[in-house]
Amino acid sequence: MLLANYHVHSDYCDGKNSLEEMVAAGIASGLTSMGLSSHLSLPFPNDWTMKEENLENYLNDVKVLKDKYSSQIELYCGLEIDFFIDRQDISDLAKAVIPRLDYTIMAVHTIGITTGADVSYIDESQQNFEQGIKKYYAGDKQAFIKDYYQGIAKMVSMFEPDILGHFDLVKKYNRDNRFFNEQDTWYQETVKDCLDQIATKNTRMEINTGTNLRIPGVGRYPSDWMIPEMKKRNIPITIGSDSHSTAGIVFEYDEAEAYITECGYQEYWVLKKGRWDAQPLGV
Ligand SMILES: [Zn+2]
Ligand SMILES: [Zn+2]
Repeated sequence: MLLANYHVHSDYCDGKNSLEEMVAAGIASGLTSMGLSSHLSLPFPNDWTMKEENLENYLNDVKVLKDKYSSQIELYCGLEIDFFIDRQDISDLAKAVIPRLDYTIMAVHTIGITTGADVSYIDESQQNFEQGIKKYYAGDKQAFIKDYYQGIAKMVSMFEPDILGHFDLVKKYNRDNRFFNEQDTWYQETVKDCLDQIATKNTRMEINTGTNLRIPGVGRYPSDWMIPEMKKRNIPITIGSDSHSTAGIVFEYDEAEAYITECGYQEYWVLKKGRWDAQPLGV
């Protein structure tokens, strides 16, 4: 049984439940180590991240919960931090807050220019995704996807986050191969090049289990065919459900554990007494 979850949202950002409700759900599901990871506010207007003025309260609230529940679960303070491909950087606020966190998740959610008010996203809606590619890549999906994976590799090499979040988020609206075919050589080579670069750094890749709860049929991130490629490169993994409500706290955990074990992984990484530690699978 998988005993950890490092990708947990709350009503500090776009989650439905309070931090404490999420912690209670984690305890009830038998988790022993859990990281709270709201979306850090962004340097442009949006309706899905934490507000900057709430950051101190967030850090404090997690601290209070850590103490309150210390006999039942190890809690860790994290944030989901955005890397911006157009800036080739994270925000100044992110840089300032990282030393105060127990761990970081980094991910890319945006397409194109992120300095104006009207930013396009990979994961907001199919229409917004399509418009973003049209606006910034003249509709050339392949060009965007190559930029995306190069951006992920750059993010990992520059900042070496503890966890790389939802690696192949670009497939979120790719039902029926609407935007690209994962079997195509160019796609697989692009992904493999990115994995080669990730493997040179000390970043764990997240097995992100929660997507089917919100959009049935998307599957886990990363896609099944990528896991043996990660294993081949000895890339360490962590587990997270990207839960935005208590209902999703350990969503499809058993299925994920069975699959990663089948791919030859024998361990996943957990925070234990404040340090990353390899935990055997299938126990
Ligand atoms: Zn995310
Ligand atoms: Zn998330």
